Amino acid sequence: MTETVAPARIAQALEAARALIAVHGAEGRHHIAAAVLSDDGAMHLGISLESTVRWASICAEPGAVSRAMIDAPGAAIIATIAVNRDGAIVPPCSRCRELLADFAPHAQIALPDPAGWRLVALASLMPYPYKGLLRFDGDQA
Ligand SMILES: [Zn+2]
Repeated sequence: MTETVAPARIAQALEAARALIAVHGAEGRHHIAAAVLSDDGAMHLGISLESTVRWASICAEPGAVSRAMIDAPGAAIIATIAVNRDGAIVPPCSRCRELLADFAPHAQIALPDPAGWRLVALASLMPYPYKGLLRFDGDQA
């Protein structure tokens, strides 16, 4: 079930992600910061890790999801937001959309919008997640 997320919580997540990348952003090291919100009221932050071996690089969202799994076990992730080093909101990449389909299938995703941001259901970005094609019981998580 997709949960409505208060705009104030998204604004706080945006501010926290921007503050994180402002402190840690560095060319070739950290380009994106993400914040995920869980239904227990907590916020979990992550930062991208750029590797000299390009395929070993990790986006910011997996780090934030990992923090949520550790800090809020059993809580559902209800929203995500990510920003680049300029503080601009960036949508999750395709790989992160697949990850979020596994760990936050009912999350709202903040996307850039002329008004600041808009929330869209992950399901609208990922109508056919890969795992859905592997299941035979009709369960779409
Ligand atoms: Zn990604």
